Amino acid sequence: MNDVLVGRALVKRFGQTVALGGVDIAVRAGEAVAIMGPSGSGKSTLLHCLAGIMKPDAGEVHLLGQRIDTMGERKRSELRRTRFGFVFQFGQLLPELPAEENVALPLMLGGVPRSQAVRQAREWFGPLGLQTMETRRPGELSGGQAQRVAIARALVSKPAVVFADEPTGALDQRTGHDTMRLLVEATKHNGAGLIVVTHDPNVAGWCDRTVEVRDGLLAGGVRA
Ligand code: ADP
Ligand code: MG
Repeated sequence: MNDVLVGRALVKRFGQTVALGGVDIAVRAGEAVAIMGPSGSGKSTLLHCLAGIMKPDAGEVHLLGQRIDTMGERKRSELRRTRFGFVFQFGQLLPELPAEENVALPLMLGGVPRSQAVRQAREWFGPLGLQTMETRRPGELSGGQAQRVAIARALVSKPAVVFADEPTGALDQRTGHDTMRLLVEATKHNGAGLIVVTHDPNVAGWCDRTVEVRDGLLAGGVRA
């Protein structure tokens, strides 16, 4: 019962489109859950509702027992910065900042002085296999390295939950595999829950369990 994040009966419509038709899902601390399903089935919408990026039309989202979907945008934005980490498919690093400052950014936005934030950020480079990459600009990194920098940035503020939407979508298979293994290991090591949207079964294979979304509903009666 140590669910860190719970979504209950989540409904989200866009005009006539029912993107989510009443989804229940939960993730425990240290657990990695893959969300799979065809394009347009509602995976990203589910992630956005759980992460407080979108407000569901109905249903509830609870983080560590506290209801978060009814919070205003300012509180939800603060929550996203302090309690959640995000890894997207690509284009998430600021190109003009060195890698270490990209990682330090969430801390600096939270008021941590720059030198201290960068020191904390650097601690992530070794464990993620990014030694000597600290001062490179994102344009000087490979796709896999850039994703590992994004993973460091997602974890640097010790989030309760990490959300990843197609984190390996822009990588070749081998790099995607390595990136996913690091994402799962690093997130577990930090005791956070992980929710990964992917359509790659190999990527999902790194997670503890997989839930299938079909037309905005969880398919297969899987405990979610
Ligand atoms: P997936 O991530 O599984 O590919 P999405 O969650 O992005 O699916 O989309 C689910 C459905 O909701 C699709 O029919 C999509 O076209 C629609 N949808 C998603 N976001 C929006 C939006 N911002 N405005 C209108 N329709 C949207
Ligand atoms: Mg999507």
